[in-house]
This record gives sequence, C-alpha cells and structure tokens, in this order.
Amino acid sequence: MERFGAGSLPRRDPHKDKGQRLRRELRTARSTNRTVESERLSAATQRIVLADDAPWIVVVSLSEEPWPDAERELLGAAHRVAHEIGGGVVVVRVGFHDPAPDLGQIGADRVVLLPLITDPDALATYVVAVMERCKACHVFFGEAGADADVARRTAILLGERPATSLHLLSSERATFQEAGRCIEVSRPLPKVATLAPGRFDAYVSGIAREGKQIEIELRETTAGVRDLGVVTASQLDAPLGEARFIVSAGDGVTDWEAFRDVTEALGGTIAGSRQVVDAGHLPRHRQVGASGTLVEARCYLAFGISGAPQHLQGVQRCRYVIAVNTDLHAAMVKRADLAIIADAQEVMPALARLAGGHADA
Ligand SMILES: Cc1cc2nc3c(=O)[nH]c(=O)nc-3n(C[C@H](O)[C@H](O)[C@H](O)COP(=O)(O)OP(=O)(O)OC[C@H]3O[C@@H](n4cnc5c(N)ncnc54)[C@H](O)[C@@H]3O)c2cc1C
Repeated sequence: MERFGAGSLPRRDPHKDKGQRLRRELRTARSTNRTVESERLSAATQRIVLADDAPWIVVVSLSEEPWPDAERELLGAAHRVAHEIGGGVVVVRVGFHDPAPDLGQIGADRVVLLPLITDPDALATYVVAVMERCKACHVFFGEAGADADVARRTAILLGERPATSLHLLSSERATFQEAGRCIEVSRPLPKVATLAPGRFDAYVSGIAREGKQIEIELRETTAGVRDLGVVTASQLDAPLGEARFIVSAGDGVTDWEAFRDVTEALGGTIAGSRQVVDAGHLPRHRQVGASGTLVEARCYLAFGISGAPQHLQGVQRCRYVIAVNTDLHAAMVKRADLAIIADAQEVMPALARLAGGHADA
C-alpha cells in the first residue's frame, strides 16, 4: 500500500519544481507497487522513504573523497535497475568518520558507514554481511583499483560469477567486453558486477532520499592477509599493464643509475626489452613485447631499443612513443612520434635535470 505521510503536498508549493519531481517519483513508485511515503521534514525538504522490505541494490565506494564522480555513476546505474524492480539503493562507504555525511542528498536510500579498512578480504566479508542483512539482489562496484579487487573477492565469497566492466545494463541483462575488448558479451545481470568508468549517467534528482543509516556488526575476520594500512606505492614499480607512462631501456643503455634516476624524475614506470632482461638488468616481469607484457601506456619512452617486431608488438596500443637512439634508421625511431638521435647516456641525465626544474640542463 502506498500513502502520503502526514502533511501531504501543499496546493501552492513555493518549491514547485521539487514538488513536481516528487510527484513523478511517487507515480513511478505506485506503478511498481512499492511502499513509499513522502516525509515532510520542513517546508522546503521532502524525502523519499522506502520500506525495509523493498528490493535493494548495494553500491560500494572505497573513495575517501566526499562525492567522487565514480560513486555518482554507480548510483545512477543502481537507481536505474532499482527503478525497474521497484527498489532502492544502499550505499556502503568506507573510511568515513564523524560527522556522518548526509548521503540521502546524493541518492542513498540506506547507508552503511564502515571505518577505514584496507584488508580487501575483510571488506568483502562486510559487503556480504550488508547484502545478507538487506537481502540485496545485486552489488555494484567501480572497475578500478581496490574497488575492483574487493568486487572479485565478494563474488568468490558469494559463490557467484561476476560480470566486470559493464558498459550497459538493465535489471535483466548486463553487457560487457571480453578477450581484450574484442568480443561484446551480454548475459543475465549477475549478483556482483563492476561498472566501467564514464559509461553511466550520474544520479540526479531534486528530491533527497532517506539516507537512513544501517549498523553492521564488525567482526574479526580470519583473512589470510595482514592489514598494514595504506602504503603509497612508487610509480617506478607499478604493474606494466596499468602504467600510464613507461620509461623503457634496451641494449643501448649502459648507465643503469641514470636510467633509474630519469624514470623517477619523470614519474614513469620502469620497463625494458628482452635483451636487457635476458642480461639480468631487469626482472622478467618488466619485459615489454610479444613474450612479455603488451602495454597500453599513454606515453612510452624508449632508450636504446632497436624496435624488433616482437618488441613493437608490445607497444602497439601506446598513444605516444618517444625513441632515443643513436641510429636514425632504427625501427623504433620509425615507429616513434618523436625521436631524439643521440646517446642515451647523455640524454638521460639531461632529461632528469630538466624534470627536476634545473634551467641549466
Ligand atoms: C620468439 C621471440 C620472442 C621475443 N620476444 C621479445 C619480447 O617480448 N620483447 C623484446 O623486447 N624482445 C623480444 N624478442 C627479442 C627481439 O627479437 C630483439 O632481440 C630484442 O627486442 C632486442 O632488444 P634491444 O632493442 O634492447 O637490443 P638491440 O636490438 O641490440 O638494439 C639496441 C639499440 O640500441 C641502440 N643504441 C646503441 N647504443 C646506443 C646509445 N649509446 N644510445 C642510444 N641508443 C643506442 C642501437 O642503435 C639499437 O637500436 C623476442 C625474440 C624471439 C625470437
């Protein structure tokens, strides 16, 4: 049954737009047969209130920023599905302290605030606890960093196969890409999903949702990892597949200290050709190429690399390539958007000085 709570909409509402939007949402709620009340908190503030037994979609945000874009997109996608099934959205936020933020203003019907927990297994355990508590149908995460990691762990705990990097979804189907983004797959919307960034509209409504807080009992977990807190990782050793700016060395590099210095000064990630990996200058997981990692950096700076086909295969998805080589006719120079024909041993310290802001470099 649906009803307006005490103080139904006034005939002459000074906040006409809000009133119209509320009526629209209430009409939607009626058509989906869910229990909704309009709660008049003040002359200007009205909230949509859902019954506890509504079908819930959980969204999880590990961001410490107040309202990151990714969370607004998650909310947009979740509300779309919730709207189809006549339900609401539970927002799980991690790392929030007093005072508790009013997440109802950005579209949360229910809110779970967890302390800063960096152990992904513990987080997944709490997400499962939230889902059980609310009897939620689905949980959505962003497809980035720690969020994506916790999503996969949650799926394992629930014994579900997740759908990842969704770019289209409805309450029935999820569409995403597989096999290096070559194949588009569509399947029934699973319980656990991660959403590709920038593919969903942010949730927008002039009417706040209830934003009611739910308490979850935090229990000791028996996870196999020890929580060391947040550790700032160096770009130098970032995984090659995720690096945005790669500085790579080939057989033309002999000054390894200068190579490390210039990579650090430029904020890049270290990589190399197979030749230097075979020679023991860099570990195997730093090798770029057909038998190493296929990288997708925005910029690939190659010092003393000839550009053998097996190496070029590894950089074909890079946006910009810069080559430093003494040989004007090297294949790497031909592939490059910008080439410096010079000795790498001289260019590396000069670039490091420039990056460090020394005008005399
Ligand atoms: C099955 C197979 C798989 C392979 N997979 C890979 C792979 O995944 N990745 C990979 O990298 N290779 C791979 N290789 C090896 C590949 O064929 C090349 O041998 C290798 O990439 C060459 O590495 P390099 O460019 O560092 O060395 P070189 O080919 O020796 O080139 C050195 C370059 O440095 C330049 N140079 C020399 N001195 C200087 C200087 N002072 N300053 C600036 N430039 C200088 C030279 O002009 C030259 O262009 C594979 C080979 C096979 C057969």
